[in-house]
Amino acid sequence: MAGRRLILDAGLGIIPLGRQCRPVRGELFVLLLTHLHRDHIEGLGFFAPIRYPDAHLVIYGPPPPENSLEEFLRAQFSPPLFPLPWDENSAQRDVVEIHGGGTLIWAPGAPLPEYLPPDRTPPSDPDTLTVHIMHSWAHPQGVYLFRVEWGGRAFVYATDVEGYVGGDQHLIHFAQNADLIVHDAQYTMAEYTDAARCRQGWGHSTPEMAIEVARAANIPCVVLFHHDPQHDDEFLLDMEAEAQRHFPATFVAREQMVLAIKAPGIVEHLPSL
Ligand SMILES: [Zn+2]
Ligand SMILES: [Zn+2]
Repeated sequence: MAGRRLILDAGLGIIPLGRQCRPVRGELFVLLLTHLHRDHIEGLGFFAPIRYPDAHLVIYGPPPPENSLEEFLRAQFSPPLFPLPWDENSAQRDVVEIHGGGTLIWAPGAPLPEYLPPDRTPPSDPDTLTVHIMHSWAHPQGVYLFRVEWGGRAFVYATDVEGYVGGDQHLIHFAQNADLIVHDAQYTMAEYTDAARCRQGWGHSTPEMAIEVARAANIPCVVLFHHDPQHDDEFLLDMEAEAQRHFPATFVAREQMVLAIKAPGIVEHLPSL
């Protein structure tokens, strides 16, 4: 995306990303938060660039119900929950609240993405990196889904969503004709419907639900995401093999995985970082 980098959520995966980023003067980190559940923010305090004096971290995310997003993050990453006070981090930090129906636009040469609220229409310029924001209620307390567009290509990040009977039509409309979707698939169907420990209503999906969305939205490639902590690598590879019997271009997300949208509809799985 021509030097423009987006970081989606701040779970533990953001920690090794931070380790790979050596301090570079003025380096920009743009972080988009889908929601404020612990597993989507807990890596932020351990993200090394937040302590680089010359780094600039811009965090876009939802307003919490009772205070501002900045106050919320300050409370989460200050004593007694965290050893270092938020204000002692050295990087320049800006926190921007965003809303469903809004858009982030990042034009070539612009220093930062600009947030457009829902009543403003984004320009249709293929060189402008555009992130459409959908507010979904298919997760407890709601979640933002992101559709990232650039150069005539589109990628949808739909984690922490639970499928609906007949497919999530809001998401299917939002994701239509994207090149790639990263979709929640925390549970197998057997776990999801297990009478003894039913996961219905927990806000997560199965591979079948992810594939149903991809098919209905005409998306050629699916990445199954938000793995259950109880599932080890062997279990996930079995889930992947089973999913591929129904939709061949399905992969379970892996650490350091690199997928390149080479051209509209052409997704390549490249060697890991
Ligand atoms: Zn969640
Ligand atoms: Zn989650």
